[in-house]
Amino acid sequence: MKVIDLAGRIRHMERIFTAKDALEAAFVRGILRDAGIDATVEGEFLREAIPLVGSALPQICVEEVDALRGRKVIDEYVAKRQGVGSAQEAKWRCACGEEHDVQFSACWKCGAVRPG
Ligand SMILES: [Zn+2]
Repeated sequence: MKVIDLAGRIRHMERIFTAKDALEAAFVRGILRDAGIDATVEGEFLREAIPLVGSALPQICVEEVDALRGRKVIDEYVAKRQGVGSAQEAKWRCACGEEHDVQFSACWKCGAVRPG
């Protein structure tokens, strides 16, 4: 997608995320900015005028050169939002005191089965 910025330069932008509302769009733009990626939000003002049009949800756009990196940042955000990230890092502790990653269903040290 080609857009012309305020300085009249042609910029190659890519949509990398559709936010559910303007608040989420602003939040995602913030985390992208923290990662050093300049993002713009398309559609946030349009949506206020036409609230029921789904396609007018705020679209997060970044320069094509930043798209790959931007998608990674957003993937992390989406994973955290869904609680996947924390579940993957969760550990369980055996009665013998040994700590294990969740993918292990039994203690390697004493053979006890994971509680719960
Ligand atoms: Zn054990």
